[in-house]
Amino acid sequence: MDLYEHQARELFAEHGIVVPRAEVTDSPKEAREIARRLGGRVVVKAQVKTGGRGKAGGVKPAADPPAAELTARQILGMDIKGHRVGKVMLAEPVDVEKEWYVSYVLDRAAGRFLAIASAEGGTEIEEVAARHPEAVARVHIDPAQGVTSAKAAEIATAAGLPPDTVDVLVRLWDVLVREDALLVEVNPLVRTAQGGVVALDGKVTLDDNARFRQNRWGEEGTGHDDPLEAAAAARHLNYVRLDGEVGVIGNGAGLVMSTLDVVASCGARPANFLDIGGGASARIMADGLSVILSDPAVKSVFVNVFGGITACDAVADGIVQALDAIQPTKPLVVRLDGNNAARGRAILREHAHPLVQQATTMDGAARRAAELATAD
Ligand code: GDP
Ligand code: MN
Repeated sequence: MDLYEHQARELFAEHGIVVPRAEVTDSPKEAREIARRLGGRVVVKAQVKTGGRGKAGGVKPAADPPAAELTARQILGMDIKGHRVGKVMLAEPVDVEKEWYVSYVLDRAAGRFLAIASAEGGTEIEEVAARHPEAVARVHIDPAQGVTSAKAAEIATAAGLPPDTVDVLVRLWDVLVREDALLVEVNPLVRTAQGGVVALDGKVTLDDNARFRQNRWGEEGTGHDDPLEAAAAARHLNYVRLDGEVGVIGNGAGLVMSTLDVVASCGARPANFLDIGGGASARIMADGLSVILSDPAVKSVFVNVFGGITACDAVADGIVQALDAIQPTKPLVVRLDGNNAARGRAILREHAHPLVQQATTMDGAARRAAELATAD
C-alpha cells in the first residue's frame, strides 16, 4: 500500500527527520486559512499516489493566503496521470540550496534492501540513472546489521552526500523497519539556505502483509484516487492501471501476466492488468469489461480466458451481458480456450456483435488487438 506524501511526511517527522511545516485540506477556503497560519507564503502540493506531480502542475508556490486559495482551487480536482486530486497539502516554503535523492527499496533478487542515493536529486531517479549512471550509488544492506552510522556514512560517501545526511539515512532506515515499509524515498532531500537538511518530498510503500499491525491509516490509506481502481476494488477485481492502450482481461494472474508480455511483444502497450480470477462468473466478466471500457486510454480490449473452473460458455455469457449493458465503442478481441471453449465461441458467434472478433490462439489475438490499438 502506497501512502500519500502527507502521511509519509508524518512518519518522517515521528522518526526525527526534519520536514517543512504543513497541513492538508480538500477545501480552497481552508487552504487560505492554513496559508495564514503558516505565515502567508506556501507551496501547494497535490496529494496523489504518483510521482512527477511538479512537472504535471501539481506543485505550485503561492505568495499569500488569497493566492493559496486560488492555487488550491486549481489543483483540487486536477487529473495527474489518471489520479484525481482530492486533497492538497500546503507547506511552508523552503529555500533550497541543493537537492539530493535517497531511498531504501527491497531488492527481491538479492533478498536484501538496497540503498539508492544520489547527489543529483529533484528529478526522477530513473532519468538520472539513465543519463548519469555513475551518479547513482547502490549499496545493499545486511539485514542483520541494518543501517548503522557506519553503514550510512558508507552510503553517503558512495553517493557524494555530505556528512550531515548520515543521521537522516539512519532515521530513514528506522522508518522502514518500524513501519514495515518496502520502500521509503526522499526526493528531494535538500540543503536549505539556512544550512539544515530537510525532507521536501516523501514516498512510503507499506508491506500489505503487515497490515494487521499497521492499520493506523485506515480507510484513507486504502483509498484509491484513481476512479477506475476504486470501481474495480468495489467489485473485488484485481486491477492495476498501466500506461498503454490495449485493455487486458484474463483469468488467473499467471495468464494475465503472460498476456501482458505477448501484447508487448506485438509492439503495443497494455493499458492495465485485470484478473477476473479462476472462478469468474458472467457477472464478474461484465464488471471487468465495464471497468476497462470506461478507461479513455483504452483503444482495444483483449479478453484472454482459459476456461477451467469457469467454463468458457459462462465467460461468453458475461461478455454478451456486458456488451448489451455498456454499448462499447472500442473493438474487442476474444480468445477462449479450455473448458467448453466450443460452446463459448458459438455464443459469441451467434451474438455477432460488430465490434467483437474472435481468435483461436493467444499470439494471434494479441497481434490483432495490437493492430486495432495502433490503427490510427
Ligand atoms: P514531485 O514532482 O511529485 O516529485 O513533487 P515534489 O514534492 O518533489 O516537488 C517537485 C519539486 O518542486 C521539488 O523537487 C523541488 O525542486 C520543488 N519544491 C517543492 N517544494 C519546494 C519548496 O518549498 N521550495 C523550493 N525551492 N522548491 C520546492
Ligand atoms: Mn519529488
